[in-house]
Amino acid sequence: MFSTSIGPISQTKDYLRPETAQGMFVNFKRLLNFNQGQLPFAAAQIGNSFRNEISPRSGLLRVREFTMAEIEHFVDPIDKTHPKFDTVADLEIQLYSASNQINGETAQLIRLYDAVHSKLINNETLGYFIGRIYLYLIKIGIDKNRIRFRQHMDNEMAHYACDCWDAECKISSGWIECVGCADRSCYDLTQHTKFSGQRLVAERQLSVPKRVQITERRINGTIIGQIFRKDTSIVVKYLENLSENQAHSLHEKLEQENEKCTINEKEFIITRSMFKLETKEKIVQVEEFIPSVIEPTFGIGRLLYVALEHNFKIRPEDNQRKYFTLPPLIAPYKCAVLPLSVNAEFKPFVKQISDLLTQANISHKIDTSSSNIGKRYARCDELGIPFAIAIDFDTLQQPYSIALRELESLKQVRVKIDEIVSVLQDLATENVTWNEIFALYPIFTEQQTKRLEN
Ligand code: AMP
Repeated sequence: MFSTSIGPISQTKDYLRPETAQGMFVNFKRLLNFNQGQLPFAAAQIGNSFRNEISPRSGLLRVREFTMAEIEHFVDPIDKTHPKFDTVADLEIQLYSASNQINGETAQLIRLYDAVHSKLINNETLGYFIGRIYLYLIKIGIDKNRIRFRQHMDNEMAHYACDCWDAECKISSGWIECVGCADRSCYDLTQHTKFSGQRLVAERQLSVPKRVQITERRINGTIIGQIFRKDTSIVVKYLENLSENQAHSLHEKLEQENEKCTINEKEFIITRSMFKLETKEKIVQVEEFIPSVIEPTFGIGRLLYVALEHNFKIRPEDNQRKYFTLPPLIAPYKCAVLPLSVNAEFKPFVKQISDLLTQANISHKIDTSSSNIGKRYARCDELGIPFAIAIDFDTLQQPYSIALRELESLKQVRVKIDEIVSVLQDLATENVTWNEIFALYPIFTEQQTKRLEN
C-alpha cells in the first residue's frame, strides 16, 4: 500500500504493510498445530502499520505510521456460536445500524443478545467481540456514554466481509473510529492459498464417515531419472508443484500424446509413463474446510487520545488546576509519595513506603522537592497519578500511618503504613470502591500532631 525501496541505492521495491494481520494468516498452519488442530482459536499481534494518508492531521488521530493491535479469531463457518457469548449477552450497547444511517435515525440502545438473535449482528462470535471491545474501552477509561458501534453500509464494507462494525468514540471534534470489528469470512486464507499453493485449511470431524473419490499424482521417479539424469529433481518438483487444474489437463493431454514442457528455459518431453493421476475411493472421518475469521482491529494512538480527552478535567473552584482521572490500569504512575516538607524526619518513611510499593510492583513517583505540598499534588494530578500518599507529622507517631487521597473529591483517609499496599491493590483492581474505603478508614482532615516547621 505504501511503496518504498530497500537501502539507499537499491532498485528493489518494497511495501509497508497497512495492517498487521497478514503475518497471522501466513502462519495459520503453525497456529492451528499449536492449537492441536482445533477451532476456534485466536492469535493476536501488535505492531506498526502504515497508511498513505493524503493529509495527516490532529496529532495521533490521523497519521501515516501508527501502532495497530489485531486479533484473528478463526472459526468454523458453519458454527459461529461462541462458548462465552452469555458473558456479554446482557450488555446494552448503542448500535448504529446501516438502516439507522440510511433512514437518518440515531443509534439505538440494544441488548447484545437481541442484536444477535434478530440477525442485526451477523453471528454470535462477532457479537461476542463487540461486547468484549465495549468492555475493554470502558476498562481503559473511555466514557461509556460516548461509545457507539456503527455498522458498515454495503458501499463501504469490503466485498469479502459479511458484516462489520466500528467502535466509534465521541470527542470534541465529533465521532471517530477507534476499533474495527469485521467478519472477513474465508477471504484471506483463500487468497493466500491461491497465490502460495499452500492449503490453509482446517479439518472437522464428520458425525458419519463418508466415501469420497480422491485423486493422487503418480510421478515415476525411476523413469524420469533414466531419461533426464541430473535434471530429475527439477522435473519431479515441477510435476509436484502443478496446480490441481494444471495436473488434470496434463493427465488428459498425456492420454493422446507426449507433452513438451519448458522448465528453467530448458525443454523436457513428459510421457504417460512418467506422470498420471489415479482416482480411488476412500472412507474419511473428517472433511477439510477453509475457516472464517473474525477480526477486531485496534488503533492504539486513537484509543490513547480518546482516553486522555475523556479523562481530562478542570477543578471547578480553580480553572488553573487540571487533572486526568486515568484508571489505575493504564496510569503510567499508580501512586505519588509526597512528604509534607523537606524535613529530615520524613526521609526514612519516604524510603520505607517506596520500598513497600516497589516490592508490590506499584509504580510510583516521589516528589521531595521544596515546593509546597499543594503544588506538588497539582503536578501529580496533571500527570494522571490516581493515588497520592502524604507523609506528615502524624506519620512519625505510632501506629505509623499516612494520608491517602482520592483524586476527584480530594477526600483523604488515614491508613496504617503496613496496610497501604493491600488498600492500593484493592482500589486498583476495583476489588473495593473509594466509598467503601471512606467507610472503613478514618477520614483525615488535619494533623493531630502540631509542630512548627522552620
Ligand atoms: P481500518 O483497517 O482502516 O479499519 O483501521 C483500523 C484502525 O486503525 C482504526 O479503527 C483506527 O483506530 C486506526 N487507524 C486507521 N487509520 C489511521 C490513521 N491514519 N491514523 C491513526 N489511526 C488509524
